[in-house]
Amino acid sequence: MTQEAVAWTASGCCPLCDAVVALRDTAEAGEVITCPECRSWLVVRSSDGSRIGFEAAPVVEEDWGQ
Ligand SMILES: [Zn+2]
Repeated sequence: MTQEAVAWTASGCCPLCDAVVALRDTAEAGEVITCPECRSWLVVRSSDGSRIGFEAAPVVEEDWGQ
């Protein structure tokens, strides 16, 4: 039986709340993920092995037709 260790492949910091955002898979630039802390959308800006640079995703303005 194989013990599957949870090995975080890469991690970075949320630019908004400073939480550590870890990913199990390698991230590619342009990938969008959600911060587990503040629920903000983050775009992977750079991926250097285990270090990932995030930036806040541009807010998409939705027309709710108020
Ligand atoms: Zn955050």
